[in-house]
Amino acid sequence: MTPVTKQARVDSKHSLDVVVDDDAAAPRTDYRALVIGAGISGMQAALDIANSGYEVILVEKDPSIGGHMAQLSETFPTLDCSQCILTPRTVEVGQHPNIQLLTLSEVVGVERMDGDEGNFHVRILRHPRYVIEDQCTACGDCAKVCRVVVPNEFDRGLAARRAIYMPHPQAVPAVYCLDPDACLGLFPLACGECARACERDAIDYDMAPETVEVDVDAIVVATGYTLYQDEAVMAYRYMSHPDVMDGLEFERLLSASGPTGGAVIRPSDRKVPKEVVFIQCAGSRNPEHGVSYCSKICCMYTAKHAILYKHRVPDGQVYVFYIDIRAGGKGYEEFVARAMEEDDTVYIRGRVSKIVPQEGDETSDGQSKVMVWGVDTLTGRKVEIAADLVVVASAIIPSPGAKRLAEILGIDVDTFGFYTAADTEMTPVESGVPGIFLAGVGLGPQDIPETVAQASGAAAKVLSQFAAAKAEARAQAALLSW
Ligand SMILES: Cc1cc2nc3c(=O)[nH]c(=O)nc-3n(C[C@H](O)[C@H](O)[C@H](O)COP(=O)(O)OP(=O)(O)OC[C@H]3O[C@@H](n4cnc5c(N)ncnc54)[C@H](O)[C@@H]3O)c2cc1C
Ligand code: SF4
Ligand code: SF4
Repeated sequence: MTPVTKQARVDSKHSLDVVVDDDAAAPRTDYRALVIGAGISGMQAALDIANSGYEVILVEKDPSIGGHMAQLSETFPTLDCSQCILTPRTVEVGQHPNIQLLTLSEVVGVERMDGDEGNFHVRILRHPRYVIEDQCTACGDCAKVCRVVVPNEFDRGLAARRAIYMPHPQAVPAVYCLDPDACLGLFPLACGECARACERDAIDYDMAPETVEVDVDAIVVATGYTLYQDEAVMAYRYMSHPDVMDGLEFERLLSASGPTGGAVIRPSDRKVPKEVVFIQCAGSRNPEHGVSYCSKICCMYTAKHAILYKHRVPDGQVYVFYIDIRAGGKGYEEFVARAMEEDDTVYIRGRVSKIVPQEGDETSDGQSKVMVWGVDTLTGRKVEIAADLVVVASAIIPSPGAKRLAEILGIDVDTFGFYTAADTEMTPVESGVPGIFLAGVGLGPQDIPETVAQASGAAAKVLSQFAAAKAEARAQAALLSW
């Protein structure tokens, strides 16, 4: 953890200092919420609260907002462009007068204040961007002179970036940031080329971490997910073979704004893969070597991948290994049927037992292959496919740091590290701590519509808490004025 070197108050469009109500007769109306995580769920909750007239502090650990939805190509079952749906929202969040956006930030301390329900004193650690947000015009001159090339996390390593970079072209805030781990050296400065290239004097190598302290009346936790990368997917040679990738990497290949402009080419030799194998439940529903639960969205996004791949490679062939198909959503069953019937996807019921790479000189067409062995449990026959590309639908697991955040907030997680609601049936977005609400995949695997509905549910709970507090304050004021 970066040490705290400086104390500061948020430099806000509105002052974030606690308002002390000197006039007991005037009811307090300036309630404020904290939202942690700026994926689609956190953004939705923030917008709902902000549009109702309350201030929101939105804390995001990454340099830009949008979460995983920003990485997706098109979304099931409508095949709408993900960025086209998301960008108006990220822009609205970035410009909203009631939302104070703190990127590269994390909550490091929360204290429940005595008295009213839902009053929290929060410490937020802001990591330095080394670029002054108000001065950067995103011209890119700094990146042009930077000599360091590292994998771009946003493209899941399928493209490269410089040490000073913007995560992707639609990033909000639309400013660059400097990666201190990749830079040739800041303490002492080893290069300094980017600052010399920046005509706006926007680069500040001396920028230090800051701790911001704020008081809020309610908190929404929306920290989302990451993909499982352990034993069960390693067995499929994920990470050790370039032509075995996970679902998010495939999303970046399919994306029109991705590293290949939407062309499906395999990483090893940049050739178009003609036989693609998808493996569902990679790590999910596997209590011995992965996680025991169903990741819920993989059946759907694999069907989407099959359809989108066939749009790009009409003469290609898709095979899907599955345990069973779970397509419980409006239009979802029909969507999977479309992948099977219109796009000739071959669904094979069974698990893959082994993946063995073969070099070109070992295969009949001279191309290197990934040999996929499994059993079709419906026919009892062994299956062997010489694949050009393998895509594993890895299990959805909680974001790293979710457990630590839960400890800071005093809320519960289940055995897998997903946040748990006080009552999953009747109060599914309420944590056990009054004033702290939950939304999105941090609660468990779910798709975008469910996530958005849950976020609006959490925002509604925050707003009803504020309305009740206001009514109470008015009643007190009325009593005192007698
Ligand atoms: C391959 C793939 C394809 C998919 N395709 C579809 C699809 O077509 N349709 C569909 O409906 N769904 C799809 N999904 C599911 C979709 O990605 C999720 O439903 C959605 O992105 C969840 O949003 P979220 O805000 O809950 O989480 P996330 O998108 O994970 O956002 C969480 C945010 O919180 C931030 N964060 C995490 N920890 C902290 C912290 N401690 N402090 C501050 N910030 C933090 C993260 O950086 C991130 O920005 C797909 C998923 C995968 C894996
Ligand atoms: S830091 Fe300077 S050079 Fe780099 S994008 Fe911003 S304004 Fe341009
Ligand atoms: S100072 Fe660091 S970020 Fe800037 S150009 Fe040099 S290596 Fe790149």
